[in-house]
Amino acid sequence: MTVRRYLIAGNWKMHCRRSDGAALAADLAARVGPVADRRFDLLVCPPATIIGAIAQTVAGQAVAVGGQDCHAQAQGAHTGDIAAEMLADVGAGWVIVGHSERRTNHAETSALIKAKAAAALRAGLTAIICVGETEAERDAGHAEAVVAAQLAGSIPEGATAANTVVAYEPVWAIGTGRTPTLADIAAMHGMIRARLSGLVADPDAVRILYGGSVKPSNAAEILGLLDVDGALVGGASLKADDFWAIAQAC
Ligand code: PEP
Repeated sequence: MTVRRYLIAGNWKMHCRRSDGAALAADLAARVGPVADRRFDLLVCPPATIIGAIAQTVAGQAVAVGGQDCHAQAQGAHTGDIAAEMLADVGAGWVIVGHSERRTNHAETSALIKAKAAAALRAGLTAIICVGETEAERDAGHAEAVVAAQLAGSIPEGATAANTVVAYEPVWAIGTGRTPTLADIAAMHGMIRARLSGLVADPDAVRILYGGSVKPSNAAEILGLLDVDGALVGGASLKADDFWAIAQAC
């Protein structure tokens, strides 16, 4: 049986200036301790403006740093965009692509997300590829079909467990305090695991995160589910105590 190490990833979204971000990252780094003692990897994804500062804050410590988005191209006339190579240049090792706020607010398609994930791999970053259905899609009984289509459309050539993580984030659960039932989370993660076999060479080793209103009070039951290999955490990642409590639930 493949043993997958948990990944607890914090998506800071458009929060934190340099000073409070550095304080949060330093607090986490002080708690995390030696790598050998941990059951999980800890990752923070600050806004692009402070990725370099946060990477310097946690340099040499067991907190990884990632971006929240990247452009598909390595450089060029793309005002306001940031290349995966630029994230790597300032110390990021990871990048989230296809978050529902990007899919919705910036009309990002799975084809574009696939190109962004390919860019992440090209730059040596690990891509966290987000998928998830809307409430209307779930109510209509289409949740699994929507997620399966997003997955098939968003995973690039060359994706492996070493460079790719999938995050299942039902859109209606993000920032709402609502979560699917444990049975629904387990069913979706099982479906994603099964579908990965046609998309990556080592599907059993790929980490599949759950995201959407994860907090200290529900982390243990969610992280205890088969095929849930960690969490992508928004709001609760902005408080060191809460984020750490979630990690302790691994
Ligand atoms: C997210 O934005 O990825 C997320 C899961 O947010 P929250 O934890 O606040 O629901």
